Amino acid sequence: MTETTLTGLRAQLHALPKVDLHRHLEGSLRLKTLSEIAQEHGIDLPSYDIEYLRRFATVVTDDRPDFHLFLAKFTFLRRFYPTRAAVEQVAYEAVADAAADNIKYLELRFNPVALSRYQEFTFDEVTSWVCDAVAQSQRDHAITSYLILQIGRDESLDIATQITEVALAHQANGVVGLDLAGDEASYPARRFADIFQRARREGLGITVHAGEAGGAQNVREAVELLGAQRIGHGVRSIENSDVIHLVRSNGITLEVCPTSNLQTAVVRRFWQHPLADLLALNLRVTINTDDPSVSDTTLTDEYMTAMLAMGVTLEQIKHTILNGVAGSFQPADKRRELAQWFRKELQLHG
Ligand SMILES: [Zn+2]
Repeated sequence: MTETTLTGLRAQLHALPKVDLHRHLEGSLRLKTLSEIAQEHGIDLPSYDIEYLRRFATVVTDDRPDFHLFLAKFTFLRRFYPTRAAVEQVAYEAVADAAADNIKYLELRFNPVALSRYQEFTFDEVTSWVCDAVAQSQRDHAITSYLILQIGRDESLDIATQITEVALAHQANGVVGLDLAGDEASYPARRFADIFQRARREGLGITVHAGEAGGAQNVREAVELLGAQRIGHGVRSIENSDVIHLVRSNGITLEVCPTSNLQTAVVRRFWQHPLADLLALNLRVTINTDDPSVSDTTLTDEYMTAMLAMGVTLEQIKHTILNGVAGSFQPADKRRELAQWFRKELQLHG
């Protein structure tokens, strides 16, 4: 492809109205904002220079692909929520940045432990602040955004229960789901089964990070024991045909995030990524960013990568956008309304 063709393709993909179901607030922080917050609140760092911060807050080119190295970036980022204003600013900007990429429907997730630990805010406080900032940012930008509360796999059942109760209490403020994330290889999901089953019964959507650092059996566990309707990543479902069958027959949505998978060493090369195969198997596949600032990516970039390095077609990209609507944690009538709107808009971007 010539450079002009590439620029044209990027412009076309950027213009598409998009859906992102898998994006972490803690992975969506602008470096400039981090530097400002650190300076204003005297957060102890050897330098406030943006280029210096980049090495700790993002995956840089000389980082080796590694799941634990990737997670370590988030340990560093937990230091940047010293005040209510800082929490509100990062939440507001995360939604604004998604809107700038023409994402029209966003489900943004965050871990209340990460946002509250530094100053010992309560989970309820930080959740209220994020909900308010996201609501304001939605009003200021052309985007619809909801929230998912996240539980780390290494948390105690007590903390997990508290987060679930906060999520249930904030349903009217835009919280639509509950997520399990973190080190899948070391911490099994099954001990959270009762908590997630309860959350689902009481109206929250369930998504679980599985089939990423761990194998296909973790996808089975998430669906059968935790009642997951969506799987974060789930790309390793491809390793087991029974799990593929389970995902398809239950209409499970796979939240695929290609660049993240490369950086966490789930795959070594984009051409080895199973995205095209998962699409060919007619699963409900979506394409998402995971952590746009940590991974230095946008959803437009992910679409470019899918098309140029994984053999995905523009028609398939559009199909994944409609899959995102179908997998959104919305009531059926709202999903139908969104699908109608997206179908019409996508036709205009042929
Ligand atoms: Zn994730």
